[in-house]
Amino acid sequence: MNPPASAANPAVGLPAHTVAGSADLHLHTYFSDGTFAPEELAQRGAQLGLVAMALTDHDTVEGCARMDLSCRGLGVEFIPGTELTAEFDGHEVHLLGYFLDVRQPQLLAEIKKFQTVRQERIHEMVAKINEMGIPLRAEAVFTLANCQSPGRPHVARALAQEGFCESMEEAFERFLKKGRPAWVPKYKISALDAINLIHQAGGLAVLAHPGLNRCDHVIPRLASDGLDGLECFHSRHSSTQSVYYLALAASLNLAVTGGSDCHGFSKGKPLIGGVRLPGFYLAKLMEARRFSKLS
Ligand code: AMP
Ligand code: ZN
Ligand code: FE
Ligand code: FE
Repeated sequence: MNPPASAANPAVGLPAHTVAGSADLHLHTYFSDGTFAPEELAQRGAQLGLVAMALTDHDTVEGCARMDLSCRGLGVEFIPGTELTAEFDGHEVHLLGYFLDVRQPQLLAEIKKFQTVRQERIHEMVAKINEMGIPLRAEAVFTLANCQSPGRPHVARALAQEGFCESMEEAFERFLKKGRPAWVPKYKISALDAINLIHQAGGLAVLAHPGLNRCDHVIPRLASDGLDGLECFHSRHSSTQSVYYLALAASLNLAVTGGSDCHGFSKGKPLIGGVRLPGFYLAKLMEARRFSKLS
């Protein structure tokens, strides 16, 4: 997917070094369900020639300080972010926050709540698995997860590691998928609360991977509720979908973002850099941030 022809001639005031390069603005580390350390992710991104990276771990910003430090050393622009679990009209949606003040008290308080509930959910899932006669221990999941935001992938990995399943896929199929015996719903905040929380922390709020949500009808309403951008480029979007969401973003005056949604080795091969946001859109996003700070 190429940016419009005007990308070759960046508007005055856009940061030139970003226009010329490309970015990956959707990345996970082991602070949620990825496998890489922030430093490892930064290093890989730099090797792949990314000019900017954003860390968007689920419901946490814990890895941002370390990744910021690494990116600085590598001359890569770093955008502190998160991916918040939210809902709108009964649909689960993920809201990406970019350019966050990762020390903002309300954001940290909400993250604490997310993490407490995620940890309780692990106990609930393990109890259901135990009821089925499988002696998985919650401690095994927490030890393996080694993070404050554990989730189903950690339970799946523990089941596979302890020999109760052949693979993570089997664990999801037998126990963890929605409708399966150990499925426990996840704590979500309203999309409006997520957008407001991101704004309070000085960030821009972007709807993640709309192509996976199958609820495009909510996008105009989210836009009028303050949504700033749409993730048009994503590893699981077809090029047709990317084109569709680019047009939708333009019609709703939303910024365009994109990234690989790399989880390291936890979902097959590392996707980092596989889907990139063209520099033109990155520059526009940075400009949108500047204006949001001014207003
Ligand atoms: P959670 O946030 O705890 O509900 O877990 C969500 C994570 O589990 C996401 O990263 C998904 O990609 C992953 N996931 C969901 N369904 C499956 C599945 N069938 N197989 C493998 N991973 C899955
Ligand atoms: Zn994930
Ligand atoms: Fe997501
Ligand atoms: Fe993600």
